[in-house]
Amino acid sequence: MAKSSIVGYPVIGENREWKRALESFWAQKTTEEELLQTTKEIRLANLQKQKEAGLDQIAVGDFTLYDRVLDTAVMFGIIPSRYQWTGGQVSNTTYFSMARGNDEAVASEMTKWFNTNYHYIVPEYEGQRFQLTENKPLLAYREAKKELGIEGKPVLLGPYTLLKLSKGYEDKDVPSIILQLIPLYQKVLQELQEEGVQWVQIDEPILCTSITSNEMKTVTEIYSQLTKDVDGLNILLQTYFDSVEHFEETIALPVAGIGLDFVHGGTKNLENLQTHGFPQEKILAAGIVDGRNIWRSDLHAKLSLLETIQQQVKLENLWIQPSCSLLHVPVTIRSEQKLDSTISNALAFADEKIKEIHVLQTALQSGKVSVVTEFEQSEAALTAFNKLPARNRQEIREATSGSILSDSKRNLPFADRKIKQQEKFQLPLLPTTTIGSFPQTPEVRRTRTKWRKGEITDQQYKDFVNAEIKEWIDIQEELGLDVLVHGEFERTDMVEYFGEKLDGFVFTEKAWVQSYGSRCVKPPIIYGDVAFTKPMTVEESVYAKSLTNHEVKGMLTGPVTILNWSFVRDDLSRDEVTNQIALALRKEIESLEAAGIHMIQVDEPALREGLPLKKSEWKHYLDWAVNAFRVATASVEDTTQIHTHMCYCDFNHFIEAISALDADVISIETSRSHGDLVESFNDYHYDKGIGLGVYDIHSPRVPAVEEMTEIINKGLEVLDPAQFWINPDCGLKTRKRKETVAALKHMVIATEQARERLGASAVK
Ligand code: GLN
Ligand code: ZN
Repeated sequence: MAKSSIVGYPVIGENREWKRALESFWAQKTTEEELLQTTKEIRLANLQKQKEAGLDQIAVGDFTLYDRVLDTAVMFGIIPSRYQWTGGQVSNTTYFSMARGNDEAVASEMTKWFNTNYHYIVPEYEGQRFQLTENKPLLAYREAKKELGIEGKPVLLGPYTLLKLSKGYEDKDVPSIILQLIPLYQKVLQELQEEGVQWVQIDEPILCTSITSNEMKTVTEIYSQLTKDVDGLNILLQTYFDSVEHFEETIALPVAGIGLDFVHGGTKNLENLQTHGFPQEKILAAGIVDGRNIWRSDLHAKLSLLETIQQQVKLENLWIQPSCSLLHVPVTIRSEQKLDSTISNALAFADEKIKEIHVLQTALQSGKVSVVTEFEQSEAALTAFNKLPARNRQEIREATSGSILSDSKRNLPFADRKIKQQEKFQLPLLPTTTIGSFPQTPEVRRTRTKWRKGEITDQQYKDFVNAEIKEWIDIQEELGLDVLVHGEFERTDMVEYFGEKLDGFVFTEKAWVQSYGSRCVKPPIIYGDVAFTKPMTVEESVYAKSLTNHEVKGMLTGPVTILNWSFVRDDLSRDEVTNQIALALRKEIESLEAAGIHMIQVDEPALREGLPLKKSEWKHYLDWAVNAFRVATASVEDTTQIHTHMCYCDFNHFIEAISALDADVISIETSRSHGDLVESFNDYHYDKGIGLGVYDIHSPRVPAVEEMTEIINKGLEVLDPAQFWINPDCGLKTRKRKETVAALKHMVIATEQARERLGASAVK
C-alpha cells in the first residue's frame, strides 16, 4: 500500500487568525496566555483538517510562532549574547526579541528561505555552547496525539542545513559546531524514540544546492552519528526545491526513507532514480504535487509519473506527497467566491492539494476506475482553462520574440550619463532618499477598503490619497531629504497594484501566504498573457512632483519581482512571462518620462530569490532576468535617472549581474547584515550610484545617529563619496509615522555630519 504524506502545512489559518493573534499580542492587547491558547486552537484545527482528509503521515512540529529556523536555533540555545539569555528555557520575550529586536538589541538578520519568498531568521553563531532548551518536536507530537489521536510525524530542520543557514563562523569552526550539535540532535531523537514515535522527518533542503563532495561526506558522517542509538526510530530525510546534488550518496544515507522533489528539479531526480535505482529497504517519499504553485494537478500526468517512479520502488515503500511544505501556498480555494469559475476550477491550494494526494494514492492503489470522476473533473477543468483567449494572445507572443528584446541598451554608457545627470539634478554629496513607501496607517487601509466596497467615490479616494501625498511631501521637505517619493499610499502591495492594472492577472480574496513573521502576502496569479492597458503610476507621481521643487522618484516594481512574487502560469517559460511584463512596464516608464518624471525607480527586491539553487543554472537565470530589466528601462533619455532597489542581498555572489542591470543608482539593504556587504566592493569595482541602507526598517526601533554613522563610515571606506547615496534599508510602509520621522531625522543628521567630515578632509 502506498501511503499519503505531507511535508508541512501553512500555519496561518483560513482567515489569517494566526497573524491576528500574534499582532494583538505584540500590541499588548492580549496576554501571552491568550496568544498560546489561540495559536493552539489554530494548530489543532490545521491538524484536524489533515486528519479528516485521510492523510497517512501528518507532519507535526512544523507550526511556529514566528519562524521555523528560529525555533530550531532557540531549541539548541543558539542565541546571540545581546539578548541576555542566561540558559534554560527560552521565554517568548527572548524569542520575539530575536525576531523583531527590542529597545536594547537589534533583531537578528532575516533572509530568504532558499529560492522562495519566505524569510527565515538567520541563526548567529558566537562561539556559544549549545544546549537543548526544549524538545519542540516531542511536545508537538504529544499534543497531536493527546488532543486529536493523531500519530504524527515530527519534523525538524536537519543539522547540516541549520549549519549552512547560520552565520558567524569560519570554515575551521565547522567540525566543532557539528560536534556540539550531534549530541543534541541525538537527544531529541532518543526522546522521540522513547516516546514511541515511528517516523520523524528531518529536512535537509541544503542537499539540493551545489554542495561539494566533501560537504556530502560530512553529511554522511553526521547521519551515521545521528542514527547510531535510535534503531527503533524511522528517519525520513526530506529534500525539496530541486534535485539532490549527490544522488547516490544521499539515497545511501543510513536513514529509513528519503524524500525527493519530483516537481522542481524533478526531471533530474527521476533520471537519477532510473540510472541508480533506489535501495529496496527504504521508503521513497515522492513529492508529486507542486507545493509551490497553485495550479490544479494534471492527474493523468501525475499518475503516470508515479507509475514511472514505482518501477524503481515497491508500492508499499512509496509515499505520495506534495513537493515541499505547503506553507508556500494559500490554505484553501473554498475561501474564493469571486473568481471566474474557469479560473478557480484550475486552482488547488493546500487543502485541495492534500485531496489530490489522496486521489492519486487511490488511483495508484486501485486503478483510475476507482476515482474516475475526480480524474474527469480535473481534466475538464484544465482543458477549459487552457482554451481561454486570455491565455492565447498571438500579438503578445509575437512581441516577446521580437528584436526589442535583444536591443535593450541605454543610449550612452553610464560614465557619460552620470555627467549629464549630475548637471541636470545638481545633487549634494551623499544624497538622501527613501525607498518609496511611507506608513500605511490604519486610516489609509480603511479608506482603501471603503473605496473598494464602493462606500466612497473614486474622487473621494483620490482626494484622500492626494492629501496623504501632500502631507508626506511636506514632511520630507521639512526633514531635508534630497530626493522625494510620493509614498505609495495608493498601493496595498507592490505587485498587486500593478497586476490589477495589467492584463493577464487575477486576484484572490484570501489566498494569503506567509512571507516573514506575521506578515503575509497575497500573490497575484498570472494566468494569461501580460499586457499594458493604461498608465498605472503617472497621476500620483505627477501630483507629488507638482508640490515640490525637489526631484520626485517615480516608483515601479520590476519585471522579475512581479514574476517572482506571483503565482505564474506553468505552460510558458518563466523568462517568456517576464519579458511580457517587461514590455508592459516599458510603456509605463515611457509614460512617466513623458509626464516629466525624470528619476524612476524600478524595484527588483526579488531578483535574488529567483536565483536557482544550483550554481550551474545561475548564469542562464541572470542573463534573462537582467535582460528583462533592461527591456523595461533602457529606452529612456540619457538624463533620466533609473534607480533600482533590492533587499536581503547577498551581493558578493552577483554584483556583476547587478552592474549589468545598468541602473544609474541602486539602493540596497545593509544594516541587518551589519555591513558585511560592503566587503564585496573591495573585490569588485562598482562604478554606479549606490545607496546603502543605513537602518533596519523591519523593527519599530529608532536607531541612534551613531549607529547610522557607523554604517556610513564603513561604506565610505570602500565607496567613492560621489557615488554614495543614503537611505533606509527598504520601504517604510509597515512602520508607524512617529518612528519613521524620528529615524529619518537621525538619518539626515548622520548624513550632514558625514558631509561635514568629508568637506573637512577635502580642505586638509
Ligand atoms: N518601493 C517599495 C517600498 O518602498 C520597495 C519595497 C521592497 O523592496 N520590498 O515599499
Ligand atoms: Zn526592499
